[in-house]
Amino acid sequence: MTVTGRIHSIETFGTVDGPGIRYVVFFQGCPLKCQYCHNRDTWDPRGGREVTVDELVNDIRQYEGFYRSSGGGVTASGGEPALQAAFVEELFRRCHREDLHTALDTSGCVGPQRIAGLLEVTDLVLLDIKHIDPAKHRELTGVSNEKTLALARRLSEMGISVWVRHVLIPGLTDDPRDLARLGEFLAGLNNLQKVEILPYHTLGAYKWEQLGLKYPLKGAEPPSPEAVAQARELLAGFDLPTA
Ligand code: SF4
Repeated sequence: MTVTGRIHSIETFGTVDGPGIRYVVFFQGCPLKCQYCHNRDTWDPRGGREVTVDELVNDIRQYEGFYRSSGGGVTASGGEPALQAAFVEELFRRCHREDLHTALDTSGCVGPQRIAGLLEVTDLVLLDIKHIDPAKHRELTGVSNEKTLALARRLSEMGISVWVRHVLIPGLTDDPRDLARLGEFLAGLNNLQKVEILPYHTLGAYKWEQLGLKYPLKGAEPPSPEAVAQARELLAGFDLPTA
């Protein structure tokens, strides 16, 4: 039986979700409810459109020269791609057959056991750690960070390369004590290629409004460049590859 996936959209020349130029598939469905979500229209698992792996691979082939020559590849993002682990696993297997690098952009909310097969064919994980404190993580996203941190540890044991991403939101995720806890946690891992501090932005707020929903962080401002630099410096103090 052909496994099908539900996707929100595709970006054929992505430059931020992994190394090089990338084919980025945004999957539909997400179990988190991040207050700052910039892809609010991906939450509904019944939304988007259905695709087959063949369909995606045929599309990827049109541009694969660019991906290979730039050191890029294919990224599964979302929404939460790990919710459709069987489909993404098959897609990544086919990418490996074509000699294309694979990256999984995830919040880690699906436990490591449930995505064991997918991890076998994943070259890089872009792991979003929304908050190091479990209670504050729950407040910000609706779920605890237990599975995310378990995945981070498991990836370290497996030696799979990871880029950690942390969105800096003034008043919510920028407390230096929390950042120091995050730094301590990350310093215990041995597979980090990059730790990215991403300044909060409001570019996705209009999507909430289009859906007739109130944007939960209405009025929140992006951090200043100085605050971002300070957060990066604090984490770099833990000997982390910050960016
Ligand atoms: S994990 Fe990503 S897609 Fe899901 S709610 Fe959070 S920001 Fe939105």
